[in-house]
Amino acid sequence: MASQSPHDKLRSLPQVEEVLHDASLEALTESVPRDLVCDAVRTSIDEARQTILAGSDADTSIPSIVRATRMRLLALNRPSLRRVVNASGVIIHTNLGRSVLAPAAVQAVNEVASGYSTLEYDTDAMARGSRHSHCEQLICTLTGAEAAIAVNNNAAAVMMVLSEFAAGHEAIVSRGELVEIGGSFRIPDIMAQSHATMVEVGATNKTHLSDYVRAVTPDTAMVLKVHPSNYRLIGFTESVAISELRSLADDENAAREQAGGTSGDKLLVYEDQGSGAFMRLTCFGDYAEPTVSESLQAGADLVSFSGDKLLGGPQAGIIVGAKPLIARLKKNPLARALRLDKMTLAALEATLRLYLNPENARREVPTLRMLTETADEVRVRTKKLASMLKKALPADACEVSIVEEISRAGGGALPMCDIPTYCVQVKFLRGDALSCDRHLVSERLVPVVGRLKKDMLLFDGRTVLDKGEMQEIVCACTEYFEGIDR
Ligand SMILES: *Cc1c(COP(=O)(O)O)cnc(C)c1O
Repeated sequence: MASQSPHDKLRSLPQVEEVLHDASLEALTESVPRDLVCDAVRTSIDEARQTILAGSDADTSIPSIVRATRMRLLALNRPSLRRVVNASGVIIHTNLGRSVLAPAAVQAVNEVASGYSTLEYDTDAMARGSRHSHCEQLICTLTGAEAAIAVNNNAAAVMMVLSEFAAGHEAIVSRGELVEIGGSFRIPDIMAQSHATMVEVGATNKTHLSDYVRAVTPDTAMVLKVHPSNYRLIGFTESVAISELRSLADDENAAREQAGGTSGDKLLVYEDQGSGAFMRLTCFGDYAEPTVSESLQAGADLVSFSGDKLLGGPQAGIIVGAKPLIARLKKNPLARALRLDKMTLAALEATLRLYLNPENARREVPTLRMLTETADEVRVRTKKLASMLKKALPADACEVSIVEEISRAGGGALPMCDIPTYCVQVKFLRGDALSCDRHLVSERLVPVVGRLKKDMLLFDGRTVLDKGEMQEIVCACTEYFEGIDR
């Protein structure tokens, strides 16, 4: 076989009809439309042809084409967006969907999704209502803001604020805060997109108030402060606090008023806070992220943040601030383009409601619970997982133990915080960590994401949600060792 020329190889490719006669494909045509099966066979044959034409070897036997076709059809039936067991220890894991919703939020989504809802219906007035009304009061109560609007995500929020208030004008930002946040969200790009003229001040490591003062012109619409997300400069650094930017803006606005300006010409202080904490997580000491209400109290006119980072809700971007400013945002056409759907609104409202009682929020919002759980609490869960693994896995295949480790907040929040945790550590006597990791992630309907460390695989008990997820981890590891033993 191996000595066949490419020409002979191509000639040996089967016809579509020949492959379709295979019994296992015949059986499949009962659950999958015949056209789809034909297409899949054709694609599989074509794939083999392309491989041969590219100068490589391909198996042209009918069983091989049948196998490829079956894989293709099974993949078609398997959802692409699936649940994952996150044993990585990264709590707000952007690749894995950031925050897990609280049960109350899931229930709220379920309810509005499976029936009609008051999305834009005011039941008191018995007339058309506004979808902006569902969360606004809660956000204001929880942050002390006068008004609020929630849109698709924080990137959308930044875009909207810049477009509404700084388009055609200057916006000042520190060079130390011109960060890329991941997924190609870059402040300079958003500035350009919203037609604001970006005025950079200071140096990468240090920006002083005097740098901002010197940069202000009559055309400056805004001073923008950006949370540096998971980027940190350590050592010889300096940035300017919101309270100082407030004084600068007040002085400038007084001068503009004296010169006969209107309120539309005010210099605004806007903070893109990124993670958006509603509670000060005192367990992180000085590293705790400032809360939204602290930023407002310090004098920011507008603050925006994500719904699915520290807040622990659905993907959303929330903007809080003075009533007249939020009113302008609500009228901006982007508010319509970037609006939230009913499922997100339901999840957001339910999540916010939990915050009315901070103790409830800490217990029931999974992101908050995982962030604030002590290492000893995590240890209980980790021990359980370790004993389940020990019981299920062959003793001569691996060594299972418990080790002290570090969890991460993720999502650009609390980047300096080492969160002490306990992990199950699997040391391989047969097989190896790399191939086990590959099996756990790539070969399963519910992937299990652990953490590779040297040639060991770790499962962090902090982000494993419940006993069901532990069983999935055990199942996945058992499968792996069975696979290599065959
Ligand atoms: C995460 C983040 C964003 C983007 O927020 P999304 O909700 O992901 O769109 C913007 N700015 C900062 C500072 C961030 O940390």
